[in-house]
Amino acid sequence: MAAVEHWIGNPVSRALLRFVACHDECGDRLSNAIDQYLGMDGEVCWKCRLAGKLVGYTLDKSSRIFGVSSEEIKKGLAEPVFKRGLMNVLNGISRYGITRPQIINAPFLVVWDFTHRCNLACRHCYQNAQAALPDELDTTEAKDLIRELAGAGVVVIAFSGGEPLMRKDFFEVAACAKDYGMYVALASNGTLITPGVARRLKEAGIDYVEVSIDGKDAASHDTMRGIDGAFERSVAGIRHCVEEGLYTCIATTVTRDNYDEVPAIHELAQELKVTRLICFNFIPTGRGVEMAEKDVTPCQREELLRFILSRNGPGRFPEVLSTAPQLARVAIQGKDPEGVPVGHFHLGAGLSGKTRMLADFIGGCGAGRLYCSIEPQGNVQPCVFMPITVGNVREEPFLAIWHNAGVLRQLRDRELLTGSCGSCENKYICGGCRARAWSYFHDLTRPDPGCIRNAAIWDEIEREASHTRAWTTPWLWASPSGAGETYLQWEGESAAVTPQSGSAPAPAAASAKTK
Ligand code: SF4
Ligand code: SF4
Repeated sequence: MAAVEHWIGNPVSRALLRFVACHDECGDRLSNAIDQYLGMDGEVCWKCRLAGKLVGYTLDKSSRIFGVSSEEIKKGLAEPVFKRGLMNVLNGISRYGITRPQIINAPFLVVWDFTHRCNLACRHCYQNAQAALPDELDTTEAKDLIRELAGAGVVVIAFSGGEPLMRKDFFEVAACAKDYGMYVALASNGTLITPGVARRLKEAGIDYVEVSIDGKDAASHDTMRGIDGAFERSVAGIRHCVEEGLYTCIATTVTRDNYDEVPAIHELAQELKVTRLICFNFIPTGRGVEMAEKDVTPCQREELLRFILSRNGPGRFPEVLSTAPQLARVAIQGKDPEGVPVGHFHLGAGLSGKTRMLADFIGGCGAGRLYCSIEPQGNVQPCVFMPITVGNVREEPFLAIWHNAGVLRQLRDRELLTGSCGSCENKYICGGCRARAWSYFHDLTRPDPGCIRNAAIWDEIEREASHTRAWTTPWLWASPSGAGETYLQWEGESAAVTPQSGSAPAPAAASAKTK
């Protein structure tokens, strides 16, 4: 990493990057430069050709550092999504320099809660979804937003909700994202995915379908989902997706209720032949505030993360991941310290052995740094699980919000972390889940109480809860130091807290993502 920092982060390299990362009469010079590197013909000026040489030199040197051949890099870049991702990183370095962790020019991933409407009533729903909001972005606004996000350099758009398939214009808007070369994901409860819908998803070019399964059987899943028969329909939806050859993932929100069922859910994932199983951290927010006492203990989470890592390896399926950023810390303490899952952005087996280096660069919580979410009415948040509104796309350009919002800038700076996360040697590859810090302490800089290293803090939370008999009481929000409102004072800016329904008095960050 030091070599990368020295080589790309020095002032001369950054000046050259700024020369490359600009627009002129030829269009996007960086895009033209990559095309030149790939040997594509095109009428471009001498500046674009020079930029092509610089980018080629940079990529060839990078490929040697990461132990990948130039041919592999070129093959990857032929995919529009990889090209978009690389442009995003290089534009980010030209703007921010090499940072640890790296800040990029636009989020890699935007999760768009496409509608508040849902046909289930899940107990842990971060959106508290039910009926559509009266002011959701309409089809024209939705397509305008897609155009804006694509222009900003966003690589992946994930339609979430509510249940995205409840909106009649889902396929029209998703097709628009595909037309702009984006990687399109759908997070669904699966109950509406009939064979015909799965075929349409395939024909529309949807790249990734994630269906939530929260129990090993109907008794467990339907209790969590609030509707009898949900399990059967969700499993059928998964089968239809797999039959269509869609990249299909099962997402499981792990709580004390289903913790013991994770091995059985893993077996179910194998039986259904999905490509990935992802275990979502439970974070008390939305309706999840009402069941905060179901959060697993740090010991349980640690065991779960070890289980997850033990189920991965060459030739094993499905790939198993977690949204808990501590997964990277557990991995480096394990058998293969170099093969570190890079947060929510697992890079796959191809880079095994090099991911430790990348984890230092891009790892850990990505909220506000690699990723953000957008609510149905256009509110931008750092993470779906963090109900802090930092702007609205109806009122401001998306990139202006991304670059300027104080909360996002705070989240990008791990030096601001306090307590054990602040002093932790793993803060660059982990950093703790900032939504959990917000949920429990109403302070983005405090430690994530779900980590085994913060077990003493967790014990204090449990002790307090047993005294007050109220897990939903945000007992630490009124921090004696006043640190609990840190983000509000960021350079004189303020941010609105999105109201959540439920008994909690004000905010509360997110529960695990649930569809
Ligand atoms: S806040 Fe938590 S859920 Fe959100 S990106 Fe960070 S680690 Fe993931
Ligand atoms: S102390 Fe914080 S940064 Fe360190 S591993 Fe735990 S959650 Fe991650």
